[in-house]
Amino acid sequence: FQDSNPDLFRNLNTQQRQAVECNPQTSALILAGAGSGKTRVLTTRIAWLLQHAHAGVHNIMAVTFTNKAAKEMQTRLSAMLPHNLRAMWLGTFHGICHRLLRLHYRDANLPQTFQILDSSDQTAIIKRLLKQMDIDEKVLAPRVLQGFINAQKEAGLRSGSLDAPDPYTQRLIRCYAEYEQLCQREGVVDFAELLLRSYELLNANATLLAHYHSRFTHILVDEFQDTNNLQYAWLKLLAGGGAAVFAVGDDDQSIYRFRGANVGNMAQFLRDFGVSEPIKLEQNYRSVGNILTAANAVIQNNSDRLGKNLRTDAPDGDKIRVFSAFNDLVEAEFIVSEIKMLQREGHDLNQIALLYRSNAQSRVLEQALFQAAVPYKIYGGLRFYERQEVKHALAYLRLAINPDDDNALLRVINFPPRGIGTRTIENIQAAAQTSGTTLFQAACTMGKKTAPFIDLIEQLRGQVGVVSLPELVQSVLDLSGLITHYQNQKQIAEQERVENLHELLNAATYFRVEDVQLDTLPENLADHAALPIIAFLSNAALESGENQAGKGDSAVQMMTVHAAKGLEFDVVFLSGMEEGRFPSELSLNEAGGLAEERRLMYVAITRARQRLYVSMAQQRMLHGVSQFGVPSRFVDELPENVLQHLSPKPKSKNSQENSHLKFHQHAPAVSNQELPRDFDGFLIGENVRHGKFGVGVIIDAVDGGSSAKLTINFGVDGIKVLDTAFAKLAKL
Ligand code: ATP
Ligand code: MG
Repeated sequence: FQDSNPDLFRNLNTQQRQAVECNPQTSALILAGAGSGKTRVLTTRIAWLLQHAHAGVHNIMAVTFTNKAAKEMQTRLSAMLPHNLRAMWLGTFHGICHRLLRLHYRDANLPQTFQILDSSDQTAIIKRLLKQMDIDEKVLAPRVLQGFINAQKEAGLRSGSLDAPDPYTQRLIRCYAEYEQLCQREGVVDFAELLLRSYELLNANATLLAHYHSRFTHILVDEFQDTNNLQYAWLKLLAGGGAAVFAVGDDDQSIYRFRGANVGNMAQFLRDFGVSEPIKLEQNYRSVGNILTAANAVIQNNSDRLGKNLRTDAPDGDKIRVFSAFNDLVEAEFIVSEIKMLQREGHDLNQIALLYRSNAQSRVLEQALFQAAVPYKIYGGLRFYERQEVKHALAYLRLAINPDDDNALLRVINFPPRGIGTRTIENIQAAAQTSGTTLFQAACTMGKKTAPFIDLIEQLRGQVGVVSLPELVQSVLDLSGLITHYQNQKQIAEQERVENLHELLNAATYFRVEDVQLDTLPENLADHAALPIIAFLSNAALESGENQAGKGDSAVQMMTVHAAKGLEFDVVFLSGMEEGRFPSELSLNEAGGLAEERRLMYVAITRARQRLYVSMAQQRMLHGVSQFGVPSRFVDELPENVLQHLSPKPKSKNSQENSHLKFHQHAPAVSNQELPRDFDGFLIGENVRHGKFGVGVIIDAVDGGSSAKLTINFGVDGIKVLDTAFAKLAKL
């Protein structure tokens, strides 16, 4: 046939083109390594389906991993096609399920104004619940209950269908049941509930399901390896009317097992959807040769892989730069000085990513960037919308549309302080419990004490649908006294909170309901007076830092490796590469944990196009304590011939080679570093060799007069305390 738009295929190789053009009536699985063009193929497939009239815009649903990915796909498609793409459902599983629930809130047994709980809201509810049930948090940690509830939901299980022989689990199930009731009463929905509720909605409603069966003839799923069992069941249900599902994924990048993701879904998919053979793509277009070599070498250490080849025509490019720092501050300084150099060389900051294994590691890096006046943007972690002051303001907004939102009420009934003490709040709670009402209703009967708060909420309620969204936010800030409260605090941190509240006002001013409609808000809310507020709040709960203040500005992109999946950057810094941090300590005690960490490492390496830095610190402050580490085994797994050491070759727990820890001349000048103290001639952080235990790092020391007691981490041989008067220690 003739291509109406030959450009569609201009940037595809033969394998990719075959994948795009495979039978439009049947399902397919594309199984291929990182950077091989899976996402590009998926996007082009949509364009191809539309262009050849295999499907109309409204027949297509595309599931991406992040909202950001959805927006990018939308932009690409708009550039490729003349179609208006509004009718296409494009978004994350959560976004799409949210949309379904908004559309069919009645059938889903939810109030029209239902609100989404993010994970910190969920923790708050669970704490409240435990208190109500008189269960001590020491006996049952909120985190444990939260994990239990989410895991059950992700397995598709309601409390009513659970049963257990042991009293411990029985209690968890009882709490889960209470939690379900509480959420239902308050009209709130957690992340896992979005999925489970919309699954149940479709499953219980034959007419509705039939409607969607005939509507969505083509469903496309990116990052398929990370779907969990519930998402898979949801997909199967929705595609059950004969839809062609086009799934793309990479088993080596499955990194959400801890959230119930199941790579086994790929094999299951082949069986359930009648696919005989996955389609493979084997050429990597993202990374230079050295980076790809490193990625392939690392992942080779995993067994049980589905097996894929990945090659590149790109030149070898830069070697991977490895840097071992004395401590985390020095590591951060190193990274900042390299970033400044890259900036001078003309690199766009948006094309530089700073990745770490866990969010806790970001603070030091953030601090260093801030001091050096390098703009940065953090994805995930404490998102803008999760900051205390912003959540307070949002709670007032929530009460304005639904005063029965108990969680929101508890958050702000006495914040800023307005003389409603713990006793009064307990009275309100008791009254609510006795009369079976919400806290707001109970508070209305409490007289003088609570009257000003009730008035405030009523005043805000009265503005809903009357004033614009930014005007309402302004009212919240003024009437609640939040701004004044923070302004009166003298600390810098509090001033920052005032700025954040102004930023919230900006966000409300620039907020466009249409932006959300793309993947979340359905049309039937259009006449609802509270629509802009609901849309705004939903957006706040679902977005993950992508719309942070200052979007469009060029900034270093900071995020965990998990959050970086599917993305690519010219330059990637992978920091904190210490054993116990990456791979994480916890993972090492779990079956399959190490393999999962290695896949995470594979994801990290393959985010880089041109240059990759790998860095580590021998000493690091985390959660207020100093920790000492040896280089990650994953650094060992990088082939030596693709590395360039900017400091002495790091000592790993297996390595027996000599090295010394003084900074190499390539290391950046380290200013204002305190001179380390010596203990009988030894320095903390220094490497030493012991006749029996081999090479270790001195992690602590105490002076004992003529000698010193050194605490030394010998890696596999463990941590020993040795006296310099007796132990034979050689400096390296
Ligand atoms: P990941 O597994 O990390 O999600 P992926 O398989 O989805 O990766 P893409 O992000 O689609 O890979 O593609 C990687 C990069 O290679 C992108 O910059 C993409 O534009 C580019 N690319 C893909 N195919 C080609 C091609 N045939 N010619 C040139 N560039 C390509
Ligand atoms: Mg991709």
